[in-house]
Amino acid sequence: MDCIFCKIVSGDIPSDKVYEDDKILAFRDLNPEAPEHVLVIPKEHISSLNEANETHLELLGYIQLKLSEIAKKLGVSDSGYRVVANTGDEGGQTVHHLHYHLLGGRFMQWPPG
Ligand code: AMP
Repeated sequence: MDCIFCKIVSGDIPSDKVYEDDKILAFRDLNPEAPEHVLVIPKEHISSLNEANETHLELLGYIQLKLSEIAKKLGVSDSGYRVVANTGDEGGQTVHHLHYHLLGGRFMQWPPG
């Protein structure tokens, strides 16, 4: 499959990893939008939230808990952070492998625009 993030999971494309286990991988975004900008992805290829289904319930819950653990590890837990899953064209998704942006280290406006 021609998926950049699957190639990062397999190690064919290098990444700056901040966390890894048998289910997920977290690595620094190549074009950071904040002082801390990490992508958290399932190792299993799921194209987006639109393709997630009930078989993924445990994995999706697991990712949310790991997001807060990774935020703590990055030192942004207390100051605050944002988690974003861009989905589809109008959602701004460019890589079609489910991923959660974890952004922190600066104040972020809401709404994002
Ligand atoms: P999205 O636009 O939500 O699909 O986000 C995709 C993100 O992946 C963007 O923020 C890119 O900067 C990031 N990205 C693309 N290729 C790589 C890569 N090889 N290593 C790290 N981040 C990447």
